[in-house]
Amino acid sequence: MRTYKGYAIDLDGTVYFGKNRIKTAEKFVQELNERKIPYVFLTNNATRTPEEVVEHLKNYEIETTVNHVYTSGQATVDYLLEHYKGQTLMLVGSPALKKLLIEANIQLVEENPDIVLQSFSYDVDYRQLMEATLAIRQGAKFVVTNPDSNLPNERGLIPGSGATTAFLKTATGVEPEIIGKPYAPIMEGALQHMGLSADEVLMIGDNYNTDIRAGLENGVDTLMVLTGFSTRESIEGLEQPTYILNDLSEWDLDANED
Ligand SMILES: [Mg+2]
Repeated sequence: MRTYKGYAIDLDGTVYFGKNRIKTAEKFVQELNERKIPYVFLTNNATRTPEEVVEHLKNYEIETTVNHVYTSGQATVDYLLEHYKGQTLMLVGSPALKKLLIEANIQLVEENPDIVLQSFSYDVDYRQLMEATLAIRQGAKFVVTNPDSNLPNERGLIPGSGATTAFLKTATGVEPEIIGKPYAPIMEGALQHMGLSADEVLMIGDNYNTDIRAGLENGVDTLMVLTGFSTRESIEGLEQPTYILNDLSEWDLDANED
């Protein structure tokens, strides 16, 4: 272990698990707060605004502020403003994402967009997907907030943003630009948000395919906690995280260089 200047921390499976608390993680976040150590909660979930994430975390006794939240929705807004400023956008996504786009003065249109942005939406319907397909086939850029195939709810694993992406990829033959973990834009955005460089930050998460790959592929050290999705056995033979721990009580914030 070594010390890091800042921490990028996944939410579900890392800080809480569905509706259940992870008390070791709560204590870890409390210590970051008390010691004013920089951190961001880094989540692929674009269905909550940063304010809503802060509210949601109160259910798990976690006190934080909006500047400690960086969602794939925020990363998408930052990416669009950097690369596609002034371009019009058709959204297939959640009300929370729509709110972020409007706040960023990104012009939303119903037809002839420069960009089609697709994310998770409970209200996605055939007509929206038809319009998105036609726009992409006519040359609109295809951007996706996050690649998650599923998300867990009380009934099991329901289709996630990635399932809708698969629909549009099949209908258009176009590969999207993807913003969320494990891809570079959200990591670059998070580092910028924290004002730190890749070698100063530790990415903490429970999911090898999103959190850990996000670190491995972007030069950020990784800590995989075994409180959520991935197990030691499930990553045998793969490139390993920098650290694997049962839970965050085992992390030493004052560790010296080894
Ligand atoms: Mg997770």
